[in-house]
Amino acid sequence: MIYYNCHTHIFSAQYVPNNVVGVPIMNVLATDPISSRVTKFFSKVRYRKINSSVERVARFAEIGLGTRQEVIFNYLEDYYKGWGDVRFVVLMMDMEQMGAGNPLSNYRTQVEELVKLRARGTYKDKLLPFLFVDPRKAEFSTGEKLRDWVKMHFEEYGFVGIKMYPALGYYPFDEKLDALYAWAQEKFIPITYHCIEGVIYYRGDVKSLRPPRFPNSKHNLTETKNERYQRNFTEPENYFDVLKMFPELKINLGHFAGEDEIKKNGPWYQTVKKLIAEHENVYADVSFTLNDTGTHEQIHRDINTKGIGEKILFGTDYYVVEKNKDEAMLRDELRNKLNELDVAAGAAKDSSFNQIAAYNPIPFLTSAYYRP
Ligand SMILES: [Zn+2]
Repeated sequence: MIYYNCHTHIFSAQYVPNNVVGVPIMNVLATDPISSRVTKFFSKVRYRKINSSVERVARFAEIGLGTRQEVIFNYLEDYYKGWGDVRFVVLMMDMEQMGAGNPLSNYRTQVEELVKLRARGTYKDKLLPFLFVDPRKAEFSTGEKLRDWVKMHFEEYGFVGIKMYPALGYYPFDEKLDALYAWAQEKFIPITYHCIEGVIYYRGDVKSLRPPRFPNSKHNLTETKNERYQRNFTEPENYFDVLKMFPELKINLGHFAGEDEIKKNGPWYQTVKKLIAEHENVYADVSFTLNDTGTHEQIHRDINTKGIGEKILFGTDYYVVEKNKDEAMLRDELRNKLNELDVAAGAAKDSSFNQIAAYNPIPFLTSAYYRP
């Protein structure tokens, strides 16, 4: 059996803007020899299980401050030793347009580094890269230019999917994405979006933002706080407008709206499930969200609900989630709980986990360019 972790990251600190969390910190972290010494120290004293919050933060820093994407990917592979054949969807990030300053290295460099890494034999099958797209990028003067740039990466370098992060300051129904969507729909290309409220969001002036192309009743366009304004971009209702134009588009709403939404059966979570139920090619992944064990019973119910369960994907959000929980721990906690519930329901061992980690990823990842 081949397992897929459908949501991971391996971008290193030099690709993160200086003010990413509202204070100038990244440029220091990416170059400061003291912080790297501290994390090295912690990595030496680490035992097999990471429990203390100090160790977890150190582990997060140790991984994220790795100078190369390869090093970060190797840590990830290490976690899954003993699992047999595991493949990882690696989601790129371009945070240059979020109004938080410039990273030390630009997005182009991040793409080149990943392309070179994947060209080496051992990574080709294990590392499945999703190219990040931001319609505001200066070189994309038209939607056709944007599409051609993406298309070139699929044809020349074997990219497997597309990643977007609307909270950085754009709507998924931006006009400049139309040509890309038409092509992606025709080629069955998977697109993963960030769909949870978080700490990474547009930091620029909200008053200078264009009104949305398709306003809906959930938008609050008079909001002045960036932290709250991000909800307009992330709002799952936005995808009804995308899917009206491109009903067969294959999309994955990453994080399944988030752990708080799942636990309270909130409006975002309900909307995501409605999108899945009403569209053949809409998926959701449980990455990050799975760190809260309070979501596991509901996730199990969803996996075993016809019309929904076929489109839930396993993912962890490595290494972003390390601050909350160790990769091995959060993964095993979910798998064990699903197993326990499967057995209690008289189902075969691992049937729920296999569905989201081995079976559902196959139609999701299959496209004109990639066959799992
Ligand atoms: Zn993520």
